[in-house]
Amino acid sequence: MTNPKNLLDQHEIVPKKGLGQNFIHDPNVLEKIATLAELMPDDTVLEIGPGTGALTAHIAPLAREVIAVEIDERLMPILEARFEHAPNVRFLNQDILETHLREVVPPGYVVVANLPYYITSAILRHLLENPPPAKRLILTVQLEVAERLIAKPGDMSLLSVSVQYYAKARIVMRINKAVFYPRPDVDSAVVRLDTHARPPVDVPNDAVFFRVARAGFAQKRKQLKNTLGDGLQIGHERAADMITSAGIDPKRRAETLSLEEWAALARAFHQLSPSPAQPS
Ligand code: SAM
Repeated sequence: MTNPKNLLDQHEIVPKKGLGQNFIHDPNVLEKIATLAELMPDDTVLEIGPGTGALTAHIAPLAREVIAVEIDERLMPILEARFEHAPNVRFLNQDILETHLREVVPPGYVVVANLPYYITSAILRHLLENPPPAKRLILTVQLEVAERLIAKPGDMSLLSVSVQYYAKARIVMRINKAVFYPRPDVDSAVVRLDTHARPPVDVPNDAVFFRVARAGFAQKRKQLKNTLGDGLQIGHERAADMITSAGIDPKRRAETLSLEEWAALARAFHQLSPSPAQPS
């Protein structure tokens, strides 16, 4: 009786769409996700949204401990009962975006999660930008988002630039919507993010890099000289000179730039205005 639908019915819980509640019920898929995480016996795993504990049950035997953060208090009795005899599993009934990671996981932890899709980007930012650093993230996300995470120049977005700044991203498995209850409208994929110990490109600091990238993507359809001129408040002409000095054609659009080119722009902007970057 560990099928998510049975457990939910038994507790008279109706899944909430607003919380991204689509539960994987296929044990083979869950087993595969746990295997893809390549967990070691001394790993601490952070699971986001354990739901009824379906994935948790496959991870717990492979790791030292699992800290699972679930926002929906209705699920806590199911989780507490199911893992009553698993001393290495701890549930926190709270919002992952409000969770101070430093207080719950050590550096080098591993994230394994079937994410609530409505806050995928916010969770990625929260996990990648806040200490302690994770060593690896194995995340089930919407297929379209997975493709954005691994995008190459030509199709880049602020999300792909940001994630690739912090980690090497690849799609390791596709998941059919039929294995979820309730069945979502979209297909899914598992992405593996191996975090970089240091940024993979040469930048003055993270803040300048992200200030320039954010400004660049603020008006995606416009040429860089306009979007950077406006966003960095340096005017179109100065922006064109700055972009040229970085070896880049000022007429290009943000989506065509590589990570290295964003880094070159960050260095050029830093030379122009070496004051500490203000958050934009
Ligand atoms: N892990 C289960 C599985 O694989 O079947 C459930 C995954 S379901 C897609 C997403 C889970 O995230 C739900 O249990 C939902 O309640 C939870 N959730 C939604 N928003 C959350 C948040 N802000 N913080 C923590 N958990 C959240």
